[in-house]
Amino acid sequence: MSLDRSTIWPYDERGEPGEFMYQRYAHPTGVAAERAVGELEGGTALLFSSGTGAALALALLLLEPGDTVALAAGAYFGTGQLFAELGRWGIRCVEFDQTGPPPDGAQLVWLEAPANPMLTLPDLDAAAAHPAPVVVDSTVATPIHLRPLEHGADYVLHSATKYLAGHHDVLLGAVVCKRPEDAERLGELRTRTGIVAAPDPAWLLLRSLQTLRARIERQTETARELAKRLATHPAVQLVRYPGIGGLISFDVADGEAARRVETSTKLIVNATSLGGARTTMESRYRWEGERVPAGLLRLSVGLEEIDALWVDLEGALTQV
Ligand code: PLP
Repeated sequence: MSLDRSTIWPYDERGEPGEFMYQRYAHPTGVAAERAVGELEGGTALLFSSGTGAALALALLLLEPGDTVALAAGAYFGTGQLFAELGRWGIRCVEFDQTGPPPDGAQLVWLEAPANPMLTLPDLDAAAAHPAPVVVDSTVATPIHLRPLEHGADYVLHSATKYLAGHHDVLLGAVVCKRPEDAERLGELRTRTGIVAAPDPAWLLLRSLQTLRARIERQTETARELAKRLATHPAVQLVRYPGIGGLISFDVADGEAARRVETSTKLIVNATSLGGARTTMESRYRWEGERVPAGLLRLSVGLEEIDALWVDLEGALTQV
């Protein structure tokens, strides 16, 4: 697929617009990437300028003033912040334990598979039995491990910034709709709000999807082994790992110990975000405060050799 950065395409000889005419409506690179993501999830995909942009578009599509969203507790804190912003437009947000049924009376159910950073997995059957539409943020699971539309979800959301693009060089979001008519309405809303993805990130996503399976299988294999080793380390109090994907969170004694560990690694990058080829680790307390234990470290396992990662982790854990 060649990269086409055009913002306009000429009308045909009768003066009528063809499939592409103005980039905010659609562009060929974006459509190709959407087809690829749609096939992976088994639905109709749309790209957005970021995962958060995708979440905002879905919220605008599905909610009205006075509505309540039931949001998975322990999920990505930015999603909670987004709904807090929408409080000014009359949207209420309640957190619930996604390992059980969503609360009655919610107009939208928002799950995360698995939750970042608490790494619980949602009870998809219980959510599907709820009358409200179900959104699954499947950023961390990826379609290699889970296809939520096959388990009763109506929409899948990705921060494609993470595993789908996979190299810490693209900011991008995606929504995959179960029903094509929902995708059509969401596409209209995207055009009208301008929360669109540019061709360059869409092209980088297409490139990255060629290695998605290989990356995710390798990251999962390494994460499983690291989770096991961390669980036996005397400085580690608790390890959270759901058995799928490349994300682990673990607790050391307190906030100060966590800061010492995150600043003592050499191979592992002390940075935010997750899902890239380079392993990253950070204390989440600085961002999320009391929502998470002060000693929680989030480790996004990349593609480096497992023994090199373990030596680095063990060295950093001596700082506790
Ligand atoms: N969903 C999850 C699970 C995330 O981890 C993130 C980002 O950290 C987002 C959504 C938001 O995505 P973005 O940073 O691409 O806006």
